[in-house]
Amino acid sequence: MKNIIITGGAGFIGSHVVREFVKNNPDTTIINLDALTYAGNLENLKDIENEPNYVFEKADITKPEELRKVFEKYNPDAVVHLAAESHVDRSITDPMAFINTNVNGTANLLNLCKEFWTLNPDHTHGRFPDEKRKNLFYHISTDEVYGSLGETGFFLETTSYDPQSPYSASKAASDHLVRAYGNTYGMPFIVSNCSNNYGPNHFPEKLIPLCISNIINEKPLPIYGDGKYTRDWLFVIDHAKAIHQIFKEAKTGETYNIGGFNEWQNIDLVKELIKQMDAKLERPEGYSEKLISFVKDRPGHDKRYAIDATKLNKDLGWKPSVTFEEGLAKTIDWYLENKEWLENVTSGNYQDYYSKQYS
Ligand code: NAD
Repeated sequence: MKNIIITGGAGFIGSHVVREFVKNNPDTTIINLDALTYAGNLENLKDIENEPNYVFEKADITKPEELRKVFEKYNPDAVVHLAAESHVDRSITDPMAFINTNVNGTANLLNLCKEFWTLNPDHTHGRFPDEKRKNLFYHISTDEVYGSLGETGFFLETTSYDPQSPYSASKAASDHLVRAYGNTYGMPFIVSNCSNNYGPNHFPEKLIPLCISNIINEKPLPIYGDGKYTRDWLFVIDHAKAIHQIFKEAKTGETYNIGGFNEWQNIDLVKELIKQMDAKLERPEGYSEKLISFVKDRPGHDKRYAIDATKLNKDLGWKPSVTFEEGLAKTIDWYLENKEWLENVTSGNYQDYYSKQYS
């Protein structure tokens, strides 16, 4: 493939995915297509911005005419689609932004791929003979589309969708659209659904970077409800590597769950962060526990998510490369070494959001 568009490449996960593709595909031009919303930050890609196979194009996926210009310029062979509104709390206060970007934006991209690519009529429910794969629409999604689990059980690729928030409903709709374009028009596609990511460059509205930032600054650590909400966590670089491997090796028409086999209740996770950070900041053991502050629960809050990533492991041999404790240590070190990045993203727009959310 000569040209691959990665949407949302200036965001948290997208920037790691762009880096993985740029480094591993020197003969392919990687086009980072991003609108640079509050969550997009080209600082995330400073280390690779001068690589000869990397280009940035500012474009908004809700504006088909802006997308068309990029498609005409590069005639892409594949699209790896991450651009999205991604924060559940924001989806509760402004659902339309999520529907516009996540649903309409995905449809705009699919329509352009349909127009630019010669689709293969020789498929069965979106599954194509491997040797005929010339193009690929790879859609990056979330485990939140599956809804909430009880105390036991795992999400499988075959679990029925049951999204509970405007964010997860908009992602579910976009997953359905991608599969529908596969089934109806012969669009070669892959979908992967991943659990919660953490790691460097994570915008500090999400739990782990918010707590890291607030422990540094001795501010309250807001925890929803009783703190017993359970999530599976994956180090973002492991997610980026999984995406690259799936892109290269998986069959079209496939869905993969990606997860860390790593469930934590929020309260235990925050205590682990406090343990590691107090040690690194040379504070007395448990010093920052006084910052824990239980806040009013989010409406429609899913109790537990847990991914079963066995299929990906069996088919492609993928597994996470770091334990949670190692990944957290790397993450904390990154934030302590990049205080300027944190200060830059926590000014202006973020301050307004933060004061409304947590006042
Ligand atoms: P993010 O919010 O950090 O980044 C989103 C990026 O998309 C930003 O660079 C932003 O500028 C860009 N963007 C937003 N609206 C756009 C538009 N209209 N046009 C073009 N670009 C636009 O998000 P993230 O956490 O990196 O998530 C990336 C993807 O991975 C999303 O699709 C999300 O649903 C999915 N995902 C995230 C997680 C997670 O834990 N963060 C887990 C599983 C799946």
